[in-house]
Amino acid sequence: MRLPRVHIDTESLIANYRTMQGLAPASVCGAVVKANAYGLGVTPVVPLLAGAGCSLFYVASLDEGVAVRRLLQDHGFLTPEIVVFHGYLAEEIPVYKQHGIIPVLKTPQALSSWFSGDYGPAVVEWDTGMHRCGLPPALAEEVSRLDPKRLHHIMTHLAAADDPDHPLNAEQKECFEGIARLFPHAPTSMGASHGVLLGPEYHGTYVRIGIALYGGVAHPDLRPVVQVRAPILEVRSIAAGESVGYGASYVAPCPRQIMTVGFGYADGYLRSFSNVGQALIQAKDGTCFDLPVVGRVSMDVTTLDVSDLSASVMSEAHEVVFYHPHQGGIIDAAHRAGTIPYELLTGLKPTLARWVGVEGR
Ligand SMILES: *Cc1c(COP(=O)(O)O)cnc(C)c1O
Repeated sequence: MRLPRVHIDTESLIANYRTMQGLAPASVCGAVVKANAYGLGVTPVVPLLAGAGCSLFYVASLDEGVAVRRLLQDHGFLTPEIVVFHGYLAEEIPVYKQHGIIPVLKTPQALSSWFSGDYGPAVVEWDTGMHRCGLPPALAEEVSRLDPKRLHHIMTHLAAADDPDHPLNAEQKECFEGIARLFPHAPTSMGASHGVLLGPEYHGTYVRIGIALYGGVAHPDLRPVVQVRAPILEVRSIAAGESVGYGASYVAPCPRQIMTVGFGYADGYLRSFSNVGQALIQAKDGTCFDLPVVGRVSMDVTTLDVSDLSASVMSEAHEVVFYHPHQGGIIDAAHRAGTIPYELLTGLKPTLARWVGVEGR
């Protein structure tokens, strides 16, 4: 079958986990694996991270939490903790208990009903300025009178951590520090990937690392993890003045060679890569050739300008690479498409084949 394949470099994933742990040495480095590990797939990612020593996993929903619990058990990891960001519905409480999963409580109602029963520890989220979810700081005094043994940790989420100069960072930190003073015995959690890079005062007892693990944060010690390899379906010549693809959005200025490859928006290659994306072919001798996307990205195929490729490179190639590190990986690709690495990764369809191993070996 000639289908695109998501390549996941296990060595780089684990190296990124260790790098983030090294950047937050005083914290426990929790791995965020919501949205099927940001599109990479929990099945390979969770056991790899657990094997690298990760003892805390964050997911969005209870379903994801149960899937991660089963996966960990299947691989013999019996002790990691699992935290669900979305909190709980009353009917889900038995499932939380059964699987030993920890909810994040973020409304007064959730808090009072969880703490009125015998349900184990919970995380309490505070809204320090993102205004998306979390309890208002005004409730901190009242909440601090709850049984501290039932509090796994208190957390908050930074809204602008990817912009180190943003004044909201320090405002949120100071607000959270004020709350934390009322919970002298509670562990804390503030930084996600970008928060860790802001410095130790933005970390807390637990850091919650997602995108940095998967290669979506620019940092000299973090490595790319994901590429997509797409099959070459055909190559054709077009004359000057002829167009390529839907809407005839690309018109050849001179005779061109056009390659059609099997990776389109149904697979997760955003349509906004039309006429701005690029792929890469690596010749046997290691030389890399940039192949610009010409015309619109279609549902299952994308067209590339391969006019600069020699006949010999062309004849030995059978696939092209998207998001190659030489082209800046998912970080530069996201810029080109006007989006963020998170959206590129989570858009990769679960049905795509995955290749999991050490790239280049
Ligand atoms: C998704 C999420 C994270 C992980 O963020 P990254 O930027 O991917 O590291 C951390 N905390 C919360 C509350 C989240 O929703």
